[in-house]
Amino acid sequence: MIPFWEPSKDVEWMRDAECAKPSNRHMMDLFFSDELEDKHQAKNLCFQCPVRKDCVKWALENAMIWGIWGGNDEHEMRRALSVNADGAEIRRDRFPKCPYCQARTSSLKAMVVDNPDGGRWLTMRLVECIDCGFTWRSRTSANAVNAYHALKADKKEQIKKLSDSTEDSQLAFDFGDLDLEQ
Ligand code: SF4
Ligand SMILES: [Zn+2]
Repeated sequence: MIPFWEPSKDVEWMRDAECAKPSNRHMMDLFFSDELEDKHQAKNLCFQCPVRKDCVKWALENAMIWGIWGGNDEHEMRRALSVNADGAEIRRDRFPKCPYCQARTSSLKAMVVDNPDGGRWLTMRLVECIDCGFTWRSRTSANAVNAYHALKADKKEQIKKLSDSTEDSQLAFDFGDLDLEQ
């Protein structure tokens, strides 16, 4: 069965945003700073925020690829969406991670669902994090996740063939060392 996926349309959650509290307004510049220490402080505020999940989801759907959103800086947002600094979809040199819990690509899976927006495409591609259940829309990231699993399966197969062809039964392989995420 194709799972149903609903885009985040309401912005009620913004009322509870930690960064929007009057007591934290002085920190707003930190969210758009290039300084690492500033980014660190902004991210810390995000990780105390009760609406971080809604924030990450909304920011991804609205392609917020500048500044810090839900604890992700612009590089992490672009990596999750597989886009460049202009917002164009590109195949990045690193596989995506979960933008909510930071799980690595091995914990991600790609899905195809009906497109609730209608329009030109009947379906769309999502990425789901098996660890935390967070789901986001990105055709190129979904393709990258599929490519990652195919590459990993291929490497396992190659190692199995190598292992089968050797008489040294002591030959041990640890698939956990197969890090394709760079
Ligand atoms: S997660 Fe961060 S950016 Fe998002 S609403 Fe909360 S404090 Fe603001
Ligand atoms: Zn996750």
